[in-house]
This record gives sequence, C-alpha cells and structure tokens, in this order.
Amino acid sequence: METRVCRLHGQNDLRVETIPLVGPAPGEVLIALGAGGICGSDLHYWQDGGFGPIRVREPIILGHEAAGTVVELGDGVTGLRVGDRVALNPSHPCGSCAYCVDGHPQHCLTMRFKGSALRFPHEQGMFRDHLAIGAAQCHVIAPGVSMSAAACAEPLAVCLRAVGRAEERAGPLRGKRVLVTGAGPIGALCTALAKLHGAEAVVVTDLQDTTLAVARQLGATATVNVRTDAGALDPWLADKGRFDVTFECSAAAPAIRQAIAATRPMGTIIQVGVTGDTPIPLNLLVGKEIGLIGTHRFDREFAAAVSLINAGALPMDAMVTHRFPLDLAAEAMAAAADRSQSVKVQITF
Ligand SMILES: [Zn+2]
Ligand SMILES: [Zn+2]
Repeated sequence: METRVCRLHGQNDLRVETIPLVGPAPGEVLIALGAGGICGSDLHYWQDGGFGPIRVREPIILGHEAAGTVVELGDGVTGLRVGDRVALNPSHPCGSCAYCVDGHPQHCLTMRFKGSALRFPHEQGMFRDHLAIGAAQCHVIAPGVSMSAAACAEPLAVCLRAVGRAEERAGPLRGKRVLVTGAGPIGALCTALAKLHGAEAVVVTDLQDTTLAVARQLGATATVNVRTDAGALDPWLADKGRFDVTFECSAAAPAIRQAIAATRPMGTIIQVGVTGDTPIPLNLLVGKEIGLIGTHRFDREFAAAVSLINAGALPMDAMVTHRFPLDLAAEAMAAAADRSQSVKVQITF
C-alpha cells in the first residue's frame, strides 16, 4: 500500500507524492491524519529553504501540528483503541540526556521533533495521509472536538509555556495589563490564554486588520493597527510604559522596540517570536529593569493544551481561517504566507 505525503525537495519545490505505507512498529500506532496546521517554520522551509543556520538538506515531509484517527495498533500498545481521535505531540525527547534528566526535555540534546530540519537526517513530519507514531505521543480528544481544533494543540502548548514563563517571573496574569505584539496564530493564542488567566487588559498590535479581527474574537480587549493607527498606542506609552507583561510574538525589530517602550519599569517581556539577529534598544531595557525572557517549545504543556481544547475553554476554530485538501498543499502554503488574509491555515486529509 502507498500513502500520500507533502514533501519539500528544496526552496519553492513542494510536491505531493506517494511513498510506501509503513505500519506501526512495537509501541507505535498508525494514524489516518485529519488536519494539520501550517506553521511559520514550514513557511520558512518552503519560501527560504530554511531559517538561520537550519537548512533543508534532503527532502522533508513538512508539518508538526496535526490530529488524526488511530487505525492500527502496534504490538504492546495499551491505552489507545482503533477509532480513537488524537492530537499528535511532535516532540520526542530522549529521556536520558542531562536536560531530560533535569526536567527540561524541551532542551533535549538529541530531540526528535517531527517535521524539523534541525538534525540530519531530517525528522520527517506529519503532512501525510498516514503516519506511524509512538503511542505516547497521541492524546485522545473529546467527542465534540473538531480535528481542526485538535490540530491547534501544538501552537497552544507553545503559548501555554510562554504564559508559564511570564507567570514564573511576574506572578499570575490575573488583573494585569498585557500587550501582545503580532497577531499571527501564536499571538492569537497568547491573547486567548491571557484573557483566560484573567488579565485586566489584553492589547494586541499588528500590521493587518484581518489578524487583529481574529485577535478580538480570541479575547483582545483592544487592538491597534500600528501601520495605520500607531497613535492609538500612545496612552500605553505614558509614565515609562504601562503594560505589566508583554508577549512579543512578531520578532520584528520595530515591534520589539515598541514592546520595550510600552512595558513598565520592572515589567516582563516574553520573547515568543523567533528570528535571527535583531537590534534591540538595550538602554531602555536596562534602564527600565525589564526582564526579557525566552520561551522554547513545550513539554507537559502539550497535555495541558489538549485538556483545554477538550474542555472547550478557548474558541480555537475562530483562529483557523483557511483549510485546503492535501492536493492543494502549495496553495495552502501561499495562503499561509499571506498575512493580510490568514491566521492559521490547515491542510485536511
Ligand atoms: Zn508550530
Ligand atoms: Zn534528552
């Protein structure tokens, strides 16, 4: 038997092709995919052949945000049944390196993360009709949850970790004034979580009205298009800045500068967006004693994300603006690249 995959052969060379279907090894299950979200990293692989030092050096099946249905159990699998609908955790740390042993598996030295070109050979991803994956990476979703919502568990896990990093330093978000710069999928989900955690104000900035409209559906108390209405942020810049916590989700230099200007002295900025070298106004950061904190992927947050989705705690479907069948993977990528139109674009199987 064969199965279809969406495989990138190099920059701008995305192909839907068939490969032999490999059944589940012991401890694995075979999944029939239902939906898979396109992430910024998939776009970078496609548009630029990679990002920073990470380059596509061999054909790679893209995708690390997916959900599907269990269709076959490998030997020794317990706790899952054929027919279970599951969100797929793309993260597979080794469990034995120094970071794994220390309880920080997101920094695993031999991390296997699906759809990632970081290591060579590349770790093949989830944009495919069928996938054999470790049973431990499958989290059962509730009956009413759509495949589309379940496929958002991965970016939600990223944002849960970001919120956790913020609360480690700044205390609970309840009652706090929160700024979110960048209203893509990660910004939208940080917005929803800040609101869920009881933030008093959640102000979201972006350059596009479409993404800001989605941010309002996910709980933003105010949105500012900094391209057309930058002055709307002025009241928040008063008194050295008025936000307690900022989630910087754009990785754009002007937004980072704005984030530092708008965050209050002693405040906290969580850098969620990722890019290469970016200039930042260190004088302001230091002078205001702002904590600038990184956040990377997730660990236990994946299970917590699935629980939130199962509980219907967040309007996940509002974020998914487009869906395309696998045959139209290139069109799906183009739609995801057009930030004036889309927030989260998914491929369906
Ligand atoms: Zn992602
Ligand atoms: Zn490890």
